[in-house]
Amino acid sequence: MLGTMCLADLLLPHRCPVCREPGPALCGRCAASLPAVPALAPPPGLDACHAITAYRGDGRAVVAALKFGGSSGIVGWGAIELARRVRDGPPVEIVTWVPTTPAHRHQRGRDQAEVLARAVAGAMGLPAARLLRRLPGPPQAGRSATERRLGPPLAAARPAPRAVLVVDDVVTTGGSVSAAARALRAAGAGIVVAAAFARTPPATAHGGRGGA
Ligand SMILES: [Zn+2]
Repeated sequence: MLGTMCLADLLLPHRCPVCREPGPALCGRCAASLPAVPALAPPPGLDACHAITAYRGDGRAVVAALKFGGSSGIVGWGAIELARRVRDGPPVEIVTWVPTTPAHRHQRGRDQAEVLARAVAGAMGLPAARLLRRLPGPPQAGRSATERRLGPPLAAARPAPRAVLVVDDVVTTGGSVSAAARALRAAGAGIVVAAAFARTPPATAHGGRGGA
């Protein structure tokens, strides 16, 4: 089965998730040709929203490698790339993540947003902390577009520091990171910045292919 082969490839630690050549987590050639991040304003409530790639084409393969392969190579590569982008934006003092549903966490054995957030924190020399908790509710995937835009039900797990970086694997509608920003601001944060592997332009946007 193709699916099985892809999964096996993703699980190999030193193989490019896009072209499958042996080598670093993502080879230089594929890293350089990832689709450009759509030039969009940050989702509501965010001071900035950083991403490495658009969520399409090879960008999707990179996110799949993060979600289902979970190799430290792809996480480490993504953390360094995101840390570089975050340093160019509003300064943050702590890193947290959008917690996944308990079902997803159980299915994958981990929360990939937490894994990525802790790696980004390590790359930036910042602390990572669980600042958000997920309230009971359906997973994003089973909800309508309008519901998704509102984001998952999130609440602060503790008082939030002044400037927070919130990490997720993909920013699609922006609902999840906006919900995180609302909860963090309600808990005391004044600056909230988002970082994700990939970002999708809204369906209503046009001309999002350029990176300018
Ligand atoms: Zn490659």
